[in-house]
Amino acid sequence: MILLCLALLAPPATPAPARPKLVVVITVDQLRPDYLDRWKSQLTGGLFQLVTEGAVFADGYQDHAVTETAPGHSTVLSGLWPAHTGIIRNSQGVQDSTAPLLGANGPGASPRRFRGTTLFDWLKAVDPTTRALSVSRKDRGAILPIGRAREQVYWYQSGVFTTSRYYADSLPPWVRTFNARRLPFKAANATWALLLPDSAYKEDDNEAWENGGRDVLFPHRLPADSVRAAAAAVNTPILDSLTLLFALDGFEALRLGRRGTDVLAVSLSSTDAVGHAFGPDSREIHDQVLRVDRYLAWFLKRVVDRVGRDNVVVVLTADHGVTSFPERTRAKTGAQAYRVSVDTIVTAVNRELDRLAGAGTSREWLNFDTGMLFLQDNGRFAATGVKTDSILDAVAERMRAVRGVGRVDRVADLPRADTASDPVARRWVHQLAPDAGVVLVVTLQPGSIWGAENSLIAMHGQPSDDDAHVPIILWGRGVKAGTYRGRANTVDIAPTLGRLLGVTPLSLIDGRVLTDALAPRN
Ligand SMILES: [Zn+2]
Repeated sequence: MILLCLALLAPPATPAPARPKLVVVITVDQLRPDYLDRWKSQLTGGLFQLVTEGAVFADGYQDHAVTETAPGHSTVLSGLWPAHTGIIRNSQGVQDSTAPLLGANGPGASPRRFRGTTLFDWLKAVDPTTRALSVSRKDRGAILPIGRAREQVYWYQSGVFTTSRYYADSLPPWVRTFNARRLPFKAANATWALLLPDSAYKEDDNEAWENGGRDVLFPHRLPADSVRAAAAAVNTPILDSLTLLFALDGFEALRLGRRGTDVLAVSLSSTDAVGHAFGPDSREIHDQVLRVDRYLAWFLKRVVDRVGRDNVVVVLTADHGVTSFPERTRAKTGAQAYRVSVDTIVTAVNRELDRLAGAGTSREWLNFDTGMLFLQDNGRFAATGVKTDSILDAVAERMRAVRGVGRVDRVADLPRADTASDPVARRWVHQLAPDAGVVLVVTLQPGSIWGAENSLIAMHGQPSDDDAHVPIILWGRGVKAGTYRGRANTVDIAPTLGRLLGVTPLSLIDGRVLTDALAPRN
């Protein structure tokens, strides 16, 4: 009786607007936004559709300093900077020997280092039937977009798509069926030829810096041996098409988007492989982007045809951009761009500290990775009696003298930086987890990259605009099309989708809702 009275007293229920049934998140590894402008007239497929019909944030950034794949993917659906996801570098990303792969040889992987929650968790909190499928060529690209959730998460290893024991004890039938087709092995002898006639490409196909000087000209041919071809396919557009085919099989098998709201995350990695080998100004990257455009048209059409245009929201972004070969930059512009390594300085300082610590000591007191100097084991260091400040001052001075180094900052000084006028300091603040042990950060001059003199690849990982500027595009139900100026960050994607879906973050986040791009609710 009491319940009945309460029901009568309650205001008439206005039905909550139904949520879109599917959130599709496409993260193209190393996709620079200028590619979409440069080859705009040749885009006819999925990229064209998103750019012309979507909300395009022209000033989109992965606004942190170490612009690598793992930190980048950790921001996309968490709303958190790497400083708060705890994923601050690739080499301490998803590797986990306690989570071996199922049915494949390769490094074990899990999201154990990831902190925080993601859009998927926020959805699941209000709708326990929500599911996620996340697919990538790379473990980190599949795992990190959905945080710690034990969902359907698969990546490519040695010719098959698999997962790790963190997620499952066996592969489901649809994955086994896909793998049994052995499609990557059928790439033996396949050629990668230009999609359009030669005249459509302004880039010189024969630049000395490309692909370490080997196999620089179209068409590129894969090895005749099927195992070697399945491995080499990761360096061609072929693997993007296979990743999307696999994702679509999963989408159908799991019947995503047909009950509550599900998340389908796909990360495409061939752009990264082609960009590293041939650079951002190559004919190869041009053709690769055209192929992503065509593949996405095929993929999005099938998804939209299945669940209905009004039931889908699509996001397109990237985990980072890329910087050209410094040798090319020097040759073309005269700019002082270099490959930079400070390893000899770090090694020399470690040996000096050994001597100060006393007889027989040999320790990695300091460790350096992609611009970050880590002080290992602070307690032992203090016991040497050497003042940290004086050591760091000396190291910073030596590093500042290295060709290609732009600036060296003490981490302790960063909180006092003006993060509005100093984007480099801001990106370092967004980067560094307080407990990571980073004491000094090194930023290179524009055009310079980390790496050995003979590494011969184009690279990313700097707090530069080349590496941090990424596309952020929303499309679909509830999105107001247009081009939006003013900085938007990848950490804004999750709260914006959350607002659109009517779900709220489960914890404090760094991003904000990009309200301009949301259509008023009706
Ligand atoms: Zn890369």
